[in-house]
Amino acid sequence: MTEQERARNERAASRGQIEQGPRPRDEGADGASRSRERTALREMAAEFVRREVAPHLQEWEDGGEVPRALHAAAARQGLLGVSFPAAVGGQGGDLLDSIALQEGCFDAGASSGLMAALFTGGIALPHLAACGTPQQVDRWVRPTLAGELIGALAITEPGGGSDVAAIRTTAHRDQDADGYVVNGTKTFVTSGVRADFVTTAVRTGGPGHAGISLLVVEKGTPGVTVDRTLTKMGWHCSDTAELAFVDARVPAANLVGEEGSGFAQIAEQFVVERIGLAVHAYGIAARSLDLTAAYCRTRETFGRPLVANQVVRHRLVEMRRQVEVARAYTHAVAARHVAGEAVVAEACLAKQTAVDCATYVCDQAVQLHGGTGYLHGTEVERHYRDARILPIGGGATEVLTDLAARLMGYTA
Ligand SMILES: Cc1cc2nc3c(=O)[nH]c(=O)nc-3n(C[C@H](O)[C@H](O)[C@H](O)COP(=O)(O)OP(=O)(O)OC[C@H]3O[C@@H](n4cnc5c(N)ncnc54)[C@H](O)[C@@H]3O)c2cc1C
Repeated sequence: MTEQERARNERAASRGQIEQGPRPRDEGADGASRSRERTALREMAAEFVRREVAPHLQEWEDGGEVPRALHAAAARQGLLGVSFPAAVGGQGGDLLDSIALQEGCFDAGASSGLMAALFTGGIALPHLAACGTPQQVDRWVRPTLAGELIGALAITEPGGGSDVAAIRTTAHRDQDADGYVVNGTKTFVTSGVRADFVTTAVRTGGPGHAGISLLVVEKGTPGVTVDRTLTKMGWHCSDTAELAFVDARVPAANLVGEEGSGFAQIAEQFVVERIGLAVHAYGIAARSLDLTAAYCRTRETFGRPLVANQVVRHRLVEMRRQVEVARAYTHAVAARHVAGEAVVAEACLAKQTAVDCATYVCDQAVQLHGGTGYLHGTEVERHYRDARILPIGGGATEVLTDLAARLMGYTA
């Protein structure tokens, strides 16, 4: 830094401003333009939700499903393919773009369930995009990113979801028919009712993670039944199914990657999935805070607005603090992931930080709305219910904390 620049910084600091030293020209220009692009993406996503989602969301929450037409509309808007490479039909971009898009949706009032249902391709497709054959990409990835198909991911089984390496659904090779015969049950499959295909974790080999493979099972495959009767505390507009496979025959061409590589493929996506759920958590928290701050300015008790009470103002600030911390930490971990760093433990911490934030903020949002906050159809009530899945799905808190402990060397 030159003397001139140092003097300028000191003057700025004395005015309470922080001035950065000069950045390398290219990096700065690129960073600024990427940041503008992300802001535009966030605004476009918010506008999409205000126009296409908000007017209908309660109806979809009550009906238990997001319409297929919404997938097509989101694809036309260029939202479904963000962070998928152009080579598989995506819009390109990275995890930070995907975060900007999701933040825009939550800003405008999207529910966590809506996001899970609409962006179900985000968990069904990455393995196919990374390890699939060109035929698999053409058959499932491109049409899903174009909003023409809906995909789902089935790992969890009635016997347990936390221990992925223990799954029991089997797929035995049927040499005569050049395919697999699948038997077992998957549960809690997001978008499983509407799905045209399900990326399914199956056991093709022996016990443990080395015996797991991924197979795409298509809708209508004989021997597959879909139980649509799982009703949930939250995520009401996200359809959730239990799938039973009885001697279901699946072509060998539907195997994703090598036999036995399923666990590694699933694990590869965990960082992105956990950061995505962190965004759900601080996204609904930020929206609940905005709604609550607005409510506290207009709602009067004892002859003055709620916000006139110091205890209320301090509560709003505490809610804001938690949102800011969760957002900043999640962004930092995502940026390190994009830069190629291994951030498996940090992604667990980011999810937990954001989940704790959502648990506190969504609860306080209901509290400050009083009885109105307890009414079905009040937006903060929906976020409060939706928040409850976040410490369970995509890795339960205890499991992720233990994983972080191992990775950070806090072991006996
Ligand atoms: C709405 C919803 C949508 C979902 N979507 C999908 C999907 O699309 N695809 C999919 O495959 N799965 C999905 N899941 C499943 C989800 O990932 C699992 O519920 C989750 O992994 C936990 O598995 P489990 O429910 O079997 O709980 P279990 O594994 O039985 O664990 C129960 C509880 O025990 C505690 N626990 C577990 N292990 C430990 C441990 N080692 N030490 C201490 N405590 C522990 C945790 O508190 C945990 O919540 C979804 C679930 C829900 C509710």
